[in-house]
Amino acid sequence: MLKTVAARLTLWFAVLFALISLAVFVLAYLTLSLNLNKRMDEGLEDETSEFEDLYRSNGIEMLKPVLQHEGESEGVESVFYSFLSPSLEILASSDMSSWTGISVDPDTLKRLQRGGIVYRTVSVPGREYPVRMAYKMVFDGNIIHIGSTLENDASLKNIYREIFGIAFMVMLFSGALMGWLVSRKAMTAVERVTRTASSIDKGNITQRVPLGREGKEIHDLAVAFNGMLERIQSLVEELNEVTDNIAHDMRSPITRIRGIVETTLSHDPGIHDYREMATMVLEESYRLTEMINTMLDIAQTDSGAARLSAEEVDLAELAHDACELFQAVAENKGIDLVEDISRERLLVKGDRSRLQRVLANLIDNALKHTNPPGKIVIKAIRADGSIRISVTDTGTGIEEHDLPHIFERFYRGDKSRSTPGSGLGLALVQSIVRAHKGDTEVLSSPGKGSTFTFFIPGIS
Ligand code: ADP
Repeated sequence: MLKTVAARLTLWFAVLFALISLAVFVLAYLTLSLNLNKRMDEGLEDETSEFEDLYRSNGIEMLKPVLQHEGESEGVESVFYSFLSPSLEILASSDMSSWTGISVDPDTLKRLQRGGIVYRTVSVPGREYPVRMAYKMVFDGNIIHIGSTLENDASLKNIYREIFGIAFMVMLFSGALMGWLVSRKAMTAVERVTRTASSIDKGNITQRVPLGREGKEIHDLAVAFNGMLERIQSLVEELNEVTDNIAHDMRSPITRIRGIVETTLSHDPGIHDYREMATMVLEESYRLTEMINTMLDIAQTDSGAARLSAEEVDLAELAHDACELFQAVAENKGIDLVEDISRERLLVKGDRSRLQRVLANLIDNALKHTNPPGKIVIKAIRADGSIRISVTDTGTGIEEHDLPHIFERFYRGDKSRSTPGSGLGLALVQSIVRAHKGDTEVLSSPGKGSTFTFFIPGIS
């Protein structure tokens, strides 16, 4: 339960509210105490001055009844007024019956000598509340000593503390409530995303999180989540398509193998028939193995599982070698294979054997789709920091409707159905080039020819 964000937020809010109200209370309590003390001291000071003036002008005889009267009117339980000689003998006082044992301690006496009023808060034995005392030494060395109980102040502070106790509980509760409400509001949207995520199984990958108005963060989360679903969906669809294609394209060679065997066995075969059957089955098996290997290569290169080496490769040299390799085949077919390769080194960081396969596939395709007397030009240049290699032929060209699909796995143009191939060559080219952080381009006009270009970031 405590692991949920809602519970944590609730707790946080409650603690925060409690701390804030505690700080406010302490501050208000201190201010209240200071003010009460100040008020009390001012009252005591006024009375001391009043009695001093009276004593100065009218003497002790006038002071006696005044002190008694003041004591009675204020309440002899709560205050006392006494007038002491320098040897602390009581010269005049209010009714002191409730204030037995009151004396002036030596330390206060010493401070009194320095002049001014001395204040002290003292706990008197037998009294519940402390007493605020004021002492003043008058002109002739006698001492005015006044004491007043702090009962009123203490009960005021008690009331304040009680009120705070209630306010604290209210704040704690409302803090928790607010935390809970805020987190509920925020979490409903998150829960919606979670609900959609958990409801997604094999069947409903098309489902999306509805975009609400819960604020930018949640909106961004929903958008990111939907984007991820989009990618997963297209991946699943691609996977389904590839599986369908694989099933379809594997079936053809296997059907052919079965056909060859069935035809051979349908009549009384001689050793020659068996030999022919074996040769054809072998050929089909080679083709099947080749197809499976290419498929695995593409899958591994695409997923990054294939470890591409990152050696320094000179594409000018690689293109030249590829031309030399295909020269004999081109000549046999009556096609002119021309090199237009930069004299400088065209260095890239990459996997030599895989880049050789790219070149071989493109030249092989050009040869396959060009009829004599045709021409194939291999061009290799550096342009804007990239190395661009293009293979241009004067062959059949590609129909406009085929053009967007030729790099897809197993896609074969209408015109190519009669030529041997698996439809995997260009898919492999593209996945290798992209694994080298490059890309491919194709320009073609039916009946005139095509140019396949790939470019890879170069190094100097
Ligand atoms: P495959 O050659 O095995 O059919 P590819 O992936 O190499 O498979 O090529 C896919 C399709 O692209 C081919 O079937 C063909 O229609 C078209 N194609 C590729 N290269 C050329 C080219 N140089 N000229 C014309 N068409 C081409």
